[in-house]
Amino acid sequence: MTVELVKHTATDTDVLWAARVSTAGEQSLEELDKDPARSKGLINYLMRDRHGSPFEHNSMTFFISAPLFVFREFHRHRVGWSYNEESGRYRQLEPVFYIPDAARKLVQQGRPGKYEFVEGTPEQLELVGRSMADSYRRSYEAYQEMLAAGVAREVARATLPVGLYSSMYATCNARSLMHFLGLRTKHEQAKVPSFPQREIEMVAELMEEQWTKLMPLTHEAFNTNGRVAP
Ligand SMILES: Cc1cc2nc3c(=O)[nH]c(=O)nc-3n(C[C@H](O)[C@H](O)[C@H](O)COP(=O)(O)OP(=O)(O)OC[C@H]3O[C@@H](n4cnc5c(N)ncnc54)[C@H](O)[C@@H]3O)c2cc1C
Repeated sequence: MTVELVKHTATDTDVLWAARVSTAGEQSLEELDKDPARSKGLINYLMRDRHGSPFEHNSMTFFISAPLFVFREFHRHRVGWSYNEESGRYRQLEPVFYIPDAARKLVQQGRPGKYEFVEGTPEQLELVGRSMADSYRRSYEAYQEMLAAGVAREVARATLPVGLYSSMYATCNARSLMHFLGLRTKHEQAKVPSFPQREIEMVAELMEEQWTKLMPLTHEAFNTNGRVAP
């Protein structure tokens, strides 16, 4: 998975500035650096009491490359997100496909909503790698054959599987990102545990890593308050 932060205007002070307009009005910008401890306390209070809108006055644009099945889950996140994805109509899709590596737990145990994943055997890992590679090769050959015969890209692409990589820009704010992270990561500090597919979780973890550097106080308050978006 590839996640690059390509553009951002996102800091903890954006949260404070927005929150303090309630009490300080236009003066709120001057209040920012006066008392760091109070600032941290205010962010924590906003998070705890779920005063969400001050966390919206910021913006992060990520470039993400991941398999189509990850994007299918990703695009379910509608509120506070903007997306633009590469087109399979206007360009030929590259043969880049997902094959899980040895770290990906392969076997699912338990019931829906309470899954646990455990290591696969070396034989299962070999089977997964071989079957996927064979299937991807056949699909991509069919795609190329259709294109060579003059079939439109938008028709020929129907043969390509969901393991194909796509790329997109995704823009969000801290509030929509926190909602996404709460659902798409499995985290020990989560008050409401989620059971995301590992591959979208890998993307989410990389996004969280970038966001933490930009808004450390907000990130800390998110964790302290059980990773529930305000
Ligand atoms: C572990 C997991 C398993 C899942 N399994 C499935 C599955 O099997 N099948 C499936 O179809 N989906 C599945 N989903 C997707 C899930 O149902 C949501 O579509 C997805 O997580 C996006 O969440 P959201 O709607 O809260 O986010 P957003 O679309 O970003 O919305 C954010 C918030 O805005 C509000 N909101 C947005 N739209 C509306 C609306 N129309 N009406 C009222 N309030 C709204 C809600 O408060 C919502 O939480 C799964 C998600 C997870 C995390």
